[in-house]
Amino acid sequence: MSGDFVKVRCPDCGNEQITFRKAATKVVCNVCGSTLVEPRGGVGNIKGELLEVVS
Ligand SMILES: [Zn+2]
Repeated sequence: MSGDFVKVRCPDCGNEQITFRKAATKVVCNVCGSTLVEPRGGVGNIKGELLEVVS
């Protein structure tokens, strides 16, 4: 199993953050609170820039 975690960059402040891809709840930036991942049908809809898939 891989690809469950992704590193995303916040589109608003550039903060890089590792998050669970299949988020059940909205994931927000730890720095500015911007939405990074929105839950959608079991696979998160990534709003920020996907940098890396973390296995
Ligand atoms: Zn941010």
